[in-house]
Amino acid sequence: MSLSDKLNPSLKSLPVYQPGRPIEEVARELGLASSEIIKVASNENPLGPSPKAVKAMQLAVAQSHLYPDGNAFYLKNKLASKLGVELPNLILGNGSNEIIEFVSHALLGPGDEIVVSQYCFAIYPLVAMMMGAKVNAVPAVDYGHDLPAMLDAITPGTRIIWVANPNNPTGTLAKPDDVRNLVESVPDDVLLVMDEAYYEFLEDPVDLLPLIRSGEKPNLLLMRTFSKIYGLAGLRIGYGIGHPELVAALEKVRQPFNTNAIAQAGAMAALEDEAHLSQTWQVNANGLRFFESFCRDNGYEFVPSYANFILVNVGDGLAVFESLQRQGVIARPMGGYGLPEWIRLSIGTETENRRAAEALKESLS
Ligand SMILES: *Cc1c(COP(=O)(O)O)cnc(C)c1O
Repeated sequence: MSLSDKLNPSLKSLPVYQPGRPIEEVARELGLASSEIIKVASNENPLGPSPKAVKAMQLAVAQSHLYPDGNAFYLKNKLASKLGVELPNLILGNGSNEIIEFVSHALLGPGDEIVVSQYCFAIYPLVAMMMGAKVNAVPAVDYGHDLPAMLDAITPGTRIIWVANPNNPTGTLAKPDDVRNLVESVPDDVLLVMDEAYYEFLEDPVDLLPLIRSGEKPNLLLMRTFSKIYGLAGLRIGYGIGHPELVAALEKVRQPFNTNAIAQAGAMAALEDEAHLSQTWQVNANGLRFFESFCRDNGYEFVPSYANFILVNVGDGLAVFESLQRQGVIARPMGGYGLPEWIRLSIGTETENRRAAEALKESLS
């Protein structure tokens, strides 16, 4: 008998999440300068953080000897008034990834089930498996969620349905009517999590906040993040919006100081920087159009995207990922998502997009 025999048995077969590779790591490996490398692997904001957020964080650093406000009163207030909800509707996470953990801790045990889509965000099944729960992955339609089929896939063992809309890694958007129907029809004892990490990139999104405000959906949780359009991925801060009873249960799972003081300060300032937000939106919209025509012009298959990345069919995703990397472009191979023919490219600045496109053409020539 050794300690390894005593480990949580779920860990044995648990796959390891493969994040986008950091620039410095690739630079060390290839003997390149960091400045020669671009990273289009993790859907980060190519414009960087809001300068207002940077200033606020610099000020907050001077108070680093103090524990953060564990309840994040000021940030929650700002979010509440922006979203038109109350403080007890909000929970903050160390990235919205942490909220995925809260939800799973609160609802999942051995034998329970989650329902996801075939090409879903990797963390939902990973955390479920860690809890000993079963993952019911519903076949995708055109790489997107088949919401009616997901509804049908609910069994008495189902505790959570996870829907990222737009979805990562496919960039697909569910039909608004399907979303409304799902929200209406999900059984009262199943939690529906709508992961809205890319919500701010949409032109005309389905707004589920009225259902939170009215309190009529105690089994609905919305998740959003400061990592994507707000450009603060390095800070690790995101939030959930739900019924006060659900939020209160999730609060019990949360560590008292899970979001740090600098992140709270940066997030608050980022919320106020409308100019940075709209500039990011425009750069992304232009970049998406650029890649779509680039793919069309070269006959590359792609999945039309509603987010800040695009999935391109390159035949051998891993080989092309490696070839791009040798050219100083860090993309994301998709084998771990069951999409071995594809790579995912995050939308960058105009210069980065051209560079990534040129490199891709070179890799495929
Ligand atoms: C990026 C992403 C998140 C958020 O990640 P955090 O950085 O932890 O906030 C959540 N869900 C999806 C689908 C994502 O793509």
